[in-house]
Amino acid sequence: MSYSHLDRPIQFLKGVGPKRADSFARLGVTTARDLLYHVPRRYDDASTVEPIGRLEVGMDVSAIGRIRSKGVIPTRRGLRIFQAVLEDETGMITVAWPGQPWLDRKLREGDTLLVSGKVKFFHGRQLQPREYTVLERDSASDGSPGAALEKGAGVIFVSYPASEDIPQWVLRGVFEKNLTEMLTWANDDEYLPPRMKAEHGLPSLEEALTWLHRPQTIYHSERGRRRLAFDELFFLQLVQAQARRRATEERPGIRHRRTNDLIRPLHETLPFELTGAQARSLREIHADMVSPQRMNRMLQGDVGAGKTAVAVFAMLIAVEGGYQACLMAPTEILAEQHARGIAGMLEPLGVEVTLLTGSLGSAQRLGATQAIASGSARVIVGTHALIQESVTFSSLGLVVIDEQHRFGVKQRMALLERESPAPDVLVMSATPIPRSLAMALHGDLDLSLLDEMPPGRTPVKTSLRSPDRRPGVYDFVRSEIATGRQAYIVYPLVDDSEKVDLLSATREYERLASEVFTEERVGLIHGQLSGQEKDRVMRDFLAGDLDVLVATTVIEVGIDVPNASVMIIEHAERFGLSQLHQLRGRVGRGAAESHCILISEPGEDALERLRAFRETSDGFEVAREDLRIRGQGDLFGSQQHGRDPALRFANLLADEDILVEAQQEARAIIAADPDLEHPEHFRIRQHLHTRYQHRLDMYGVG
Ligand code: ADP
Ligand code: MG
Repeated sequence: MSYSHLDRPIQFLKGVGPKRADSFARLGVTTARDLLYHVPRRYDDASTVEPIGRLEVGMDVSAIGRIRSKGVIPTRRGLRIFQAVLEDETGMITVAWPGQPWLDRKLREGDTLLVSGKVKFFHGRQLQPREYTVLERDSASDGSPGAALEKGAGVIFVSYPASEDIPQWVLRGVFEKNLTEMLTWANDDEYLPPRMKAEHGLPSLEEALTWLHRPQTIYHSERGRRRLAFDELFFLQLVQAQARRRATEERPGIRHRRTNDLIRPLHETLPFELTGAQARSLREIHADMVSPQRMNRMLQGDVGAGKTAVAVFAMLIAVEGGYQACLMAPTEILAEQHARGIAGMLEPLGVEVTLLTGSLGSAQRLGATQAIASGSARVIVGTHALIQESVTFSSLGLVVIDEQHRFGVKQRMALLERESPAPDVLVMSATPIPRSLAMALHGDLDLSLLDEMPPGRTPVKTSLRSPDRRPGVYDFVRSEIATGRQAYIVYPLVDDSEKVDLLSATREYERLASEVFTEERVGLIHGQLSGQEKDRVMRDFLAGDLDVLVATTVIEVGIDVPNASVMIIEHAERFGLSQLHQLRGRVGRGAAESHCILISEPGEDALERLRAFRETSDGFEVAREDLRIRGQGDLFGSQQHGRDPALRFANLLADEDILVEAQQEARAIIAADPDLEHPEHFRIRQHLHTRYQHRLDMYGVG
């Protein structure tokens, strides 16, 4: 690790000291680097700031001026109003804060304020600010009163994220004293080689930070941000590019040979044509499989988008060339479900499907493992145990992993230690996420997207009900059951909690079974049951021995009960949109019309979310909305470690273009110089190891 001046503790900067250092720490700023990267959250310029002389009643404006006089004015009704007269070179205006007399102690004559709000008519023009910021305080700015103001038009006014202890004017003062020096330290720290900056049109680190703190125009601040966003995305991609290289190149892969002996008959016997998205994904998979490199690809698509069908074609590519292909599912029920479905497609071709799960009897199990070892079993379906246990394959050519999030990066990497040559890997994920998020989270995998649904699906009817409508909802469930259908009722909690006033699955199960669905058969499933118990309940529901399944979100993953036609979600406002979408995907799998009923007494925000959800059935759109509402911190947060500077400048919704460039660059560098040994890459490597060690460890490439 090398020393940089930017690692200097904040307390040794000019104008800070130990006491302020504590306050800075509460803002998350402990080193000079933290301070330098503590960039403004808001920029105002002449296009947003109006000269005071031009303010007119009715305008909604931002204005900057110095406090010429101030005071607290009592009204006849007992309300106390703090008023200040703000002045710039064009005029004066009264600014009033009704009910905030204490501001008289916080603001001083001579302070330069940035205020925004509406200009009203009250004994002349008066501005009542929504927001205000002290840009400068005379005592702090070395006897240059109102410098920000006097620079006049064309100046950008910056506002930093501040706190009670470190107000705006203190931050500005500290930057005033230290910024120039810190920028030279940033210049010493530059890690991107000139070639990269030229090719991607990026400013230097020093320029970027200058433009963020002291932009000449708002356009400059955006260019500065884009450089730092590129850096964040580039280093994340660099780690993933190393993981990807390890997965695809460090061991010899298989060059599959496609003969069409099985693929053509499958095309002929399948009762449907592949969608455009399926055909495109299959071409991508095929190209990977026939190349000598190992495939390491993710196939992403909503529930029902036809991933399994694509996977079956891929398995046949392997089988045609004499290899075995296996598919792993996260639970036994899912494995059985897949085995049935795949057998249905392959039987007409005379290809047998071998099922291997933990619950097979010992004789069956022996038969299966022997067939797998001898090579007579060609298409094998099982649980994850298939690959983790001591099952020997004769010539494994392709592994399909269903439900990515149950199967960690490390396990996936471990797969390749087992077999030689290394089998191709296809990961199927039914959690749609926007492409940019998928690239950021799974940059070590190549991505195929099934963003098109097969034709002829009836979308699930989604509706929103308040809790007082429950009796009607229950009547509806009874009428569906009477026609032979089944229903899920999902709750956010397993058990009653003293802390939150929410309905729990366990308590509601008792009430529903004894008071509401007295004639019907009601079951209960949640995550605190053992795997065996869960399995038993799911099997009963699948077999039609239960009419209503009361559940928590454990039923989110994968299970397919085509006869279930109603999904009721209690406290819907407590769930993320993507989670609601997964739950909704549990119904609508058969021919009949299905219903998703959200029960909620939501506040305004939640109502808007739930309404948006009701209007769309496209999982990618739902995911995009979820990302927009919740922010990337939440989604990305689970991957973030300690001081790992994950994503502060990059916005995954807005910066897809940057992400694409960053990924291409990272992959190209790792392809040409896997260990970053070229002199041009020395600083990149250094930065990677000082700033991203956690992430390197996570992928096991450190
Ligand atoms: P996923 O694995 O993505 O959830 P599946 O592959 O199981 O989806 O497909 C869901 C259903 O749609 C299956 O019944 C399958 O036979 C059918 N299906 C798949 N692809 C198509 C298609 N191109 N046209 C019509 N039906 C399709
Ligand atoms: Mg290959």
